[in-house]
Amino acid sequence: MAKRPDSKIAALSEFALIARYFTRACNERQGVGDDCALIDVGAQTLAITTDMLLEGVHFFTQADPQALGHKALAVNLSDLAAAGARPRCFVLGIAIPRPDEEWLAAFSRGLFALAEQHRCALVGGDTSRSTPVEMVNGGRTWISITALGEVDRASARGRSGAQPGDDIWVSGRLGEAALALAIRRGQRQLPSPDREACLRRMDWPQPRVGLGLALAGLASAAIDISDGLVGDLGHVLERSGVGARVTWPTVPRAGFFEQLDVATQQQLVLAGGDDYELLFTAPVSRRAAIGALATEQLALTRIGQIEAAPGLRVVDGSGALIEATLHSFDHFVSGP
Ligand code: ADP
Ligand code: MG
Repeated sequence: MAKRPDSKIAALSEFALIARYFTRACNERQGVGDDCALIDVGAQTLAITTDMLLEGVHFFTQADPQALGHKALAVNLSDLAAAGARPRCFVLGIAIPRPDEEWLAAFSRGLFALAEQHRCALVGGDTSRSTPVEMVNGGRTWISITALGEVDRASARGRSGAQPGDDIWVSGRLGEAALALAIRRGQRQLPSPDREACLRRMDWPQPRVGLGLALAGLASAAIDISDGLVGDLGHVLERSGVGARVTWPTVPRAGFFEQLDVATQQQLVLAGGDDYELLFTAPVSRRAAIGALATEQLALTRIGQIEAAPGLRVVDGSGALIEATLHSFDHFVSGP
């Protein structure tokens, strides 16, 4: 049988694929398309999210298993934070090529340290041997976590509440995890200790759970930045039916980005994934209350404004449009 032309397969992006094949109407408060599903149960709302980490796709074979245990849960708690939910419990699916006890001990140490910090108990899961080692070079480890959180009905939020005139805020700093990936791939260099700081951002993301809870009643919409600012803000704009203007010089980044040319800085900071900061929108009247939530450890920065005209406009300090082609991560378009 003739093979289908590759171009036809490559044309389908991750999000087009989800929209076409996995999105159907449902009666729940929030189904496919947001950071969490929102299920009303009595007076409470249950927030549910799932994320997987796949060896060779999301992490290198040599990755520190303790960091991996941390990150597998952190990326899920980050989605709960976006929805404004308090972590309650999680289930773990794991497939490994062999029962390596040293690896398992370190993995579970990293996993439970974060779970205990957020009082989020592991309540079930599934374990399997993955593709036998002799069939795949080195085997393939696959980790999938589904996390559940609780939120008051009135405080639950998603990507769809942004209104024209709202401020756009971002927590922390962006771009370091993407720079770390470039360092690991040998494409960029950075002197110590900035190098280690960047690698830590990639390996040990800190889910902004406390901030997510504190934004109840303040943020009109939120998303966690997992695939890059441009793409993730794009999801908020699309689902809210609005547009936005983002001022590039205000987007928070570490001082050492100055050493890179501007195009590289913009690619890493505006489109680099894996930061797990929160991006949220809020009415101008909430500026002071949100500003008061910033701490020495976690800055909160206004980077632009929601506008009625659809589309995202990134401008420089003088207001001129930046004509950069920025692509956030897409599993099928970006490729490995
Ligand atoms: P996040 O980055 O917050 O984990 P994604 O952007 O990866 O979310 O996913 C977009 C939306 O598509 C989410 O609501 C997610 O639950 C949903 N989704 C992704 N894959 C599937 C699938 N196979 N079946 C149903 N829903 C899916
Ligand atoms: Mg998310």
